[in-house]
Amino acid sequence: MIPAVDLQEIAHVYVTDRGASLAVEGIQLQVHPGEFISLVGPSGCGKTTILSMIAGLLKPAKGTVKVHGQTVKGPSPEVGYMLQQDYLFPWLTIMNNAWIGLELTGRLHAESRKFARDLLEEMGLGDSGSLYPHQLSGGMRQRAALVRTLAPDPSLLLLDEPFSALDYQTKLQLEDLIVKTLKDRHKTAVLVTHDLSEAIAMSDRVVLLDRNPGRIHQVFEVPDRIRAAQPFFAREEAGFNELFRKIWKEMEIIGGKE
Ligand code: ADP
Ligand code: MG
Repeated sequence: MIPAVDLQEIAHVYVTDRGASLAVEGIQLQVHPGEFISLVGPSGCGKTTILSMIAGLLKPAKGTVKVHGQTVKGPSPEVGYMLQQDYLFPWLTIMNNAWIGLELTGRLHAESRKFARDLLEEMGLGDSGSLYPHQLSGGMRQRAALVRTLAPDPSLLLLDEPFSALDYQTKLQLEDLIVKTLKDRHKTAVLVTHDLSEAIAMSDRVVLLDRNPGRIHQVFEVPDRIRAAQPFFAREEAGFNELFRKIWKEMEIIGGKE
């Protein structure tokens, strides 16, 4: 089976006027189609850099990035990217925000419009299409951003701390909604989060990165029972706390390392 994402020995170096710095190194990772994985690790370890390389926004200094077997050369409609900030355009209605990706790639037609409208309905925003972003709560805005990301029907979603600006209750609701939406549609997802319990509750595997320069420290398989449960209930499953403590211990080791 061709992996949805295949990172082969990738490294990235940022060059600034203060010199060159190695952000990530020797990253070797395959994500299977339909799999949900999380990247966790200390701030600045290179999580966003890895997502940007998968998205085709950054070119790796070394190694290759493949999505569905094809070497990534730039952004593609196959890959959706969702960030902490929703980047909704304030001057466009929610419906027009949802359509913008389709419009910009010349794929806005009756069928794709309906697809986006149905998604909006499914995300509980059916009545909000004519509103403007400032009229929505943070959770609704993030749901609108999710609709916009899903509207071009990407097979792979990259989620960079999409819940970190939300209150706890909204965040838990959105975790459930995202996992359900992606699993129902057999989408592949790579989530970056600094919340370990979120990573375990939502994912099939948790990838822990070392401190900068980021390398893969360890990959943890999430037990089936936890994976089968909705994120909200996954936290109560047997084995959840054990896995949490196991990864936490490794994080402490990384944290204390110079
Ligand atoms: P994370 O998302 O894990 O917090 P990043 O991928 O954003 O980490 O950053 C990894 C490292 O690369 C950090 O040391 C950061 O300072 C550096 N970095 C990120 N973006 C840039 C940039 N545009 N120019 C120079 N250095 C950068
Ligand atoms: Mg980041």
